[in-house]
Amino acid sequence: MPEIKNFEDGHSKGETPGLFPNPEAKPFVSMTLAPKRRELIELSSIIFSKIFYKIRNLIPLMKKLSKSEAAKQVEEFFSNIKDKTPKEVKKIKRLAANSNIRLREKRKLFCKKCLEPYKNPKVRINKGIKSVECGNCGYVARWKIN
Ligand SMILES: [Zn+2]
Repeated sequence: MPEIKNFEDGHSKGETPGLFPNPEAKPFVSMTLAPKRRELIELSSIIFSKIFYKIRNLIPLMKKLSKSEAAKQVEEFFSNIKDKTPKEVKKIKRLAANSNIRLREKRKLFCKKCLEPYKNPKVRINKGIKSVECGNCGYVARWKIN
């Protein structure tokens, strides 16, 4: 590492012609600078490819499934929701929203705030309103009972 620093100093000095009369200095410096530029290009390409990869991963999930296929997936997901994570709930919510599937009663199976599926929540009924307290974040969801 200290060697590379010396090369950089040589470059800055080499730009002022009086200090570096040696003609061999310039090509030598440019040789040491090239990998640095390459590193920068590689770094930026890695970052961009990561971003594009994420977007490409999301698009087929949202658009390539037909509505009936998506509905099947949603149905399957909610059949054993209790061992799902909030991340998976978020994913399936997005899938349902993008393929115009209504969750209806299914959305009462997980917390609206933290998306954690209800395991054994506190449930109370008072004056025709059912309130369910999330065991994870404590948010109380209230539903009218018809
Ligand atoms: Zn919650």
